[in-house]
Amino acid sequence: MGLNTTSQSIPVNHPVSLRQLYTLESDSETHIQTVFERARAVQPTIESLSPEERIEYVMKIKDYVIANREVLIDRIVEETGKSRFDAFTSEIFEICDVIEIYKKKALALLKDQPVPTPLVLMGKKSFIIPQPLGVILVITPWNYPLYQTLVPSMLAFLAGNAVVVKPSEQTPMKGVLEDILEKSGFVKDAIQVVYGGKETGTQLIDQRPDKIHFTGSCATGRKIMEHASRYLIPVDLELGGKDASIVFGDVDIERTANGILWGAFTTAGQSCTSIERLYVEQSIFDTLIKEIVRLTQQLKVATTEEDLGKTNVDVGAVTAPFQVKVIEAHIQDAIEKGAKILCGGKCVEGSQVFMPTVLVNVNHSMKIMTEETFGPVLPIMSFQTEEEVIRLANDSPYGLGGSIWSRDLKRADRVARAMKTGNISINGHMINEANPHLPFGGVKESGFGRYKGDLGIWTFCNMKSVLVDKQSPMIEAHWYPFTLSKYKLLNTILDSLFVRSKKWPQVIKAAMQLDKIGRKEKY
Ligand code: ADP
Repeated sequence: MGLNTTSQSIPVNHPVSLRQLYTLESDSETHIQTVFERARAVQPTIESLSPEERIEYVMKIKDYVIANREVLIDRIVEETGKSRFDAFTSEIFEICDVIEIYKKKALALLKDQPVPTPLVLMGKKSFIIPQPLGVILVITPWNYPLYQTLVPSMLAFLAGNAVVVKPSEQTPMKGVLEDILEKSGFVKDAIQVVYGGKETGTQLIDQRPDKIHFTGSCATGRKIMEHASRYLIPVDLELGGKDASIVFGDVDIERTANGILWGAFTTAGQSCTSIERLYVEQSIFDTLIKEIVRLTQQLKVATTEEDLGKTNVDVGAVTAPFQVKVIEAHIQDAIEKGAKILCGGKCVEGSQVFMPTVLVNVNHSMKIMTEETFGPVLPIMSFQTEEEVIRLANDSPYGLGGSIWSRDLKRADRVARAMKTGNISINGHMINEANPHLPFGGVKESGFGRYKGDLGIWTFCNMKSVLVDKQSPMIEAHWYPFTLSKYKLLNTILDSLFVRSKKWPQVIKAAMQLDKIGRKEKY
């Protein structure tokens, strides 16, 4: 059949020591085909489970994650190079939180959703049935290997779909997801894992899944959308960002500096919503920068594998070797154009640990302020007015998230509304992501589609619209025969129903006449 049956070996290295952990054999095309056959075979079984039963299966995953959290954190830390604390808060804790929230939320969202039926359709009823789409393909990046694979997969499963998930070849965590699913007693084949790089990704799309949920870079998002368009497969794209954080002069300096520090350096700046650029009001610029630099220099940075295992280490490594090059290139470009490094600025020798870096004298002619750096780098610019900072924040091809810091909540609200992004936190950064009731997603080149919130389930559903007439004896007024009296009556209805000064008794009278005429005028 011309399928590729050979596999490719991909080395998986420790980002701190650069030691090879193992080599990943990418799955062959024949295997991928079998995976999809199994997914399609199991999907009707998943659909036949009640939402309560599906929730119970997902709860088993939560029980397993809670009971095995330390072992899971060990694997996350080893492959991503992130600090233990980061792995705990942004992956383990978040996974449990999402499941806990959807335990109730999914039940309400998967019920038939009633909607009003307008008066012209008197006597009928309308509702939406959220039904599964079929098989969902989830393609994930390296930065949150457990969270990004598990959360969309579970939400798609809750909606009644089978799932095929391909982790990033940078952090495949080979065998971990399979262990979670098997040992927790999850439905066999309901979520299957396929390993490999971009070629594997393209082969998966060729299997024509019913939807693709992708998290990753803009460049790859474009390719995936292009490929999916060949088969008209719908896509949700969670892409990159260049999040701006805006600090006004009236803030509590200590709290804000600490919040900014975490927003910029958590997971070594490799969150798509990390603070990638900071704008500080001129009146507190020097004071805040001094505090940020003082705190940055106190951060405990992992320089050995052992460090990463400790709970009191703040910042870990950059996961992918090619990302280190991007970070270096952005800093180099900024320096050449006049930027000044206040701390950090380079890698720890022989590792991918990039020292947390603060830069000033930056502007929008530099890559560091316009392109996604995706590393522990905080470039800071000053501003004078609200209008100026809104313009600067929106001067970006991206529109993922952002944050505003101010005691004046009216002003913060104004700026939040003016920022062209999908998500905003006020007096915190990324804190909106900690609430699974809030949808998450971007605008502009940060992608489209939302997950979490109500849409987190509905994005994986065919929202089927149904309108029911209870077999009334009426021949509808818009059916044949077309007669002059019907035409006149419909005109009266239009005049009485849609004019601004509508008179309800008249509308009801006309609707009743419609019913009568429907019984009378027929072939
Ligand atoms: P990042 O991890 O930097 O966000 P990418 O956006 O390149 O990296 O990759 C994210 C995921 O997309 C990975 O799992 C990768 O293997 C996969 N991928 C890369 N290129 C393609 C492609 N052309 N088609 C399908 N999947 C791809």
